[in-house]
Amino acid sequence: MAHRPYIVGNWKMNGSRAALAEARAIDRGAQRYKDVSVALAPPFPLLGLLREEVTTIGVGGQDCHTAAKGAHTGDVSAAMLADIGADFVIVGHSERRRDHGETDALVQAKAQAALVSGLGVIVCVGETLAERDTGQAEAVVAAQIDGSLPDDAAAHDAALLGRLSVAYEPVWAIGTGRVAAVDDVVAMHAAIGARLAARFGDAAAKMRILYGGSVNGDNAAALLAAPGVRGALVGGASLTADAFLPIVAAASSGEG
Ligand code: PEP
Repeated sequence: MAHRPYIVGNWKMNGSRAALAEARAIDRGAQRYKDVSVALAPPFPLLGLLREEVTTIGVGGQDCHTAAKGAHTGDVSAAMLADIGADFVIVGHSERRRDHGETDALVQAKAQAALVSGLGVIVCVGETLAERDTGQAEAVVAAQIDGSLPDDAAAHDAALLGRLSVAYEPVWAIGTGRVAAVDDVVAMHAAIGARLAARFGDAAAKMRILYGGSVNGDNAAALLAAPGVRGALVGGASLTADAFLPIVAAASSGEG
């Protein structure tokens, strides 16, 4: 399926072993929607356990280091994620850019390291409310695309294989219950698509641009039907099967 939508749950720093029951329920539920690619990114301590519990969905990390190993206390490498069976990693989430001062250059290096380890990569970009209110949203996101996405041969190969995705997540819409207007999402996804085409050429058509920011079972259908939206990165509403599966259902054509 050329345009299989990608619905990714980011558990952030939430969940304990008890939450594996939700992952199992999400995995079982996802089996009903074979035309949707579903994945979860739990916190690191749960990743290996969750991997053992699921058969259908993808499993990924929420961050990785730029190095494969070494003296980096508290960090986790992309190679380690791959070793415990992760399929992908999220890099450049705005919470990491904010909490850990991550720059575009660092995010780009993380994405490169992840590709070297054979992981798929979701690179997050998005403007703050102040940047949107002052008319800078597209310029800010364009600069993040230019600075955060890898641009080496491995990146071009990954783009062609659909292993390199972008999540457009307006910072003001994350965890706030405030979802971006569909028209604004369409405009931004078109701008991102043009930027990707300039860098990756024809391979850009294989890259999925996800929307993220307060996606839930009520607003998912409208967002996912919008031109250029090829999936969603979901935070709060990915923590339970009851909240997450309606989003997966909204992404499905209903033809399994
Ligand atoms: C996110 O964490 O990437 C996110 C979009 O969170 P939420 O869905 O809770 O806004």
